[in-house]
Amino acid sequence: MHIFAIANQKGGVGKTTTTVNLAAALTKLGQRTLLVDLDPQGNSTMGSGIDKARLTCSVYHLLVGLAELAEAKVASPTGGFDLLPANRDLAGAEIELVSLDQRELRLKQALGQHANDYDFVLIDCPPSLSLLTLNGLCAAHGVVIPMQCEYYALEGLSDLVNTIKKVHANLNPDLKIIGLLRVMFDTRSTLSNQVSAQLEAHFGDKVFTTVVPRNVRLAEAPSYGIPGVLFDPSAKGAQAYLAFAAEMIERVNSWKE
Ligand code: ADP
Ligand code: MG
Repeated sequence: MHIFAIANQKGGVGKTTTTVNLAAALTKLGQRTLLVDLDPQGNSTMGSGIDKARLTCSVYHLLVGLAELAEAKVASPTGGFDLLPANRDLAGAEIELVSLDQRELRLKQALGQHANDYDFVLIDCPPSLSLLTLNGLCAAHGVVIPMQCEYYALEGLSDLVNTIKKVHANLNPDLKIIGLLRVMFDTRSTLSNQVSAQLEAHFGDKVFTTVVPRNVRLAEAPSYGIPGVLFDPSAKGAQAYLAFAAEMIERVNSWKE
């Protein structure tokens, strides 16, 4: 089981779009996949076809010890993967967790008992370096960082890289950066191409080969509760996420050799 946190402390950079589409694409490629929505906004939940307003049990209940994974998970009716859903209840967990034992390890412990149930677990982190994100980073083996190739992207990246280093040193020795994914890419923009080249120069093969273009079909899909790769499989964005899933499978297989 490979557990990856999809993280970037900036909002609106494509974390949720990447998590939902990678989950759906991996499922399409035959991988048993669990998506964990760790954002109280519940965007991954809605984008997977689950109404966050009607949840009786969610990732919140799991984190505070009121439910087991088996009770809290639901099947995404549109994506075919399992989902640990979230809604605004989760904002309260942030406060409740502070007084609990091993507060940053709650997700790790909950997933630990299910090591053989999935090939991939993808954790959609909130746009902050909060206790929720920390639970994601402590449960994960690696971090996938979606980023837009714009002027301030590299600056924000160093904060995240430092946080990952700290978590690696103090809480989770397994944690590493799996890779950087360029998203919402505009090939015609000179700046995008420059930032992209800088990324490759600094991070080498940590930069995924796949590049996800800006594509309106990916942005439309969530309002139907359908992952973009299934909403319009022929669209350029969907094709990119399918290629990304294949690249991810190839990358994890290369670790075994
Ligand atoms: P985050 O989870 O990091 O806040 P989202 O995945 O919600 O970011 O993306 C922010 C917005 O950008 C959303 O409206 C989403 O639909 C849109 N978006 C994400 N990726 C793409 C893309 N490749 N092309 C076009 N729109 C995108
Ligand atoms: Mg999000």
